[in-house]
Amino acid sequence: MTRANLNNPDQTLLDVLDAMEEALVAYDGEGRLIVCNRAFREMYGYSAAQACPGVHFRELGEIDIAQGNVVVGDEQGPEDYLARKAQYRQELVGSFTVRLSDGRWIRTTDRRMPNGGFVSVQVDVTDLKEAEERARTDSLTGLLNKNAFLEHAHQVHEVSERYQRGYAIMIADLDHFKDLNDRYGHLAGDYALQQFAERLTRSVRKSDLTARFGGEEFVSLAPETNAATLLPLAERLRADIEALPLAFRGINFSLTVSIGVAHVQAGDTNVEDVIHRADTALYQAKENGRNRVEIGRAHV
Ligand code: GH3
Ligand code: MG
Ligand code: MG
Repeated sequence: MTRANLNNPDQTLLDVLDAMEEALVAYDGEGRLIVCNRAFREMYGYSAAQACPGVHFRELGEIDIAQGNVVVGDEQGPEDYLARKAQYRQELVGSFTVRLSDGRWIRTTDRRMPNGGFVSVQVDVTDLKEAEERARTDSLTGLLNKNAFLEHAHQVHEVSERYQRGYAIMIADLDHFKDLNDRYGHLAGDYALQQFAERLTRSVRKSDLTARFGGEEFVSLAPETNAATLLPLAERLRADIEALPLAFRGINFSLTVSIGVAHVQAGDTNVEDVIHRADTALYQAKENGRNRVEIGRAHV
């Protein structure tokens, strides 16, 4: 089909499509636009002249690039973006959600049509994604919360069982934190929690999972690592926290942390077994005078 001989769909039908909240676009077997609605043009900032019948979706991709509105992960270059878009259109994977470079999340569902083309319905799910993100995050520190951490950690454990890969867990608990709250106030305590979370995040690798487990207890999981390797990192974190000058509303104070470290071992049935061993090590660190790192002992 060419631009010239595409029939204009009935105006009533176009009015119906334009009243839809969801963005809709249909392409023919060659990737040329058959019809789209107002929500589709608004979603991608296309003018009616740009998103017109007969235009190839590759041309729309070029407009996306010119407008700096591409799928995150596809920004390496125009050619790469267009190639991936074209490849995807051939594979027609069905439903998927992508992030655009302006921060929006778009959920797309594509269905093939009998004529070889396909129809694509797209919804802005940014609010939903942000709500999901909030539900996974500890609001004070921005770290993962316990539930989100465990969800990921269970997957890491499964992978470790299947492929014989190690991982290590570190549990950190701030020392005498109740006293700090009592002496300097709850807000100073909150500030200390945020400062600790920041140092913790900086001290681990990007691939590590880091969570506030609750209260003044933090857990991180380092894939492909054992306790002996994690130990120097934990020790450095402990020393950094001890040396960290904290100041809240003109009052100076300091903080120490006790840390327990353990790694997955034969016989561990789930991540909780490893967490338990790290927790026992943490208890030892508290018993041995706090401001210390201890390593979880092997099963006997
Ligand atoms: P230990 O050295 O044995 O760990 O003693 P601790 O005082 O740190 O431990 P304890 O469990 O007795 O007290 C933890 C305190 O953490 C009590 C609680 O009020 C405080 N806490 C828990 N969550 C928060 C929070 O979100 N903000 C603040 N400021 N304090 C919190
Ligand atoms: Mg504590
Ligand atoms: Mg505690």
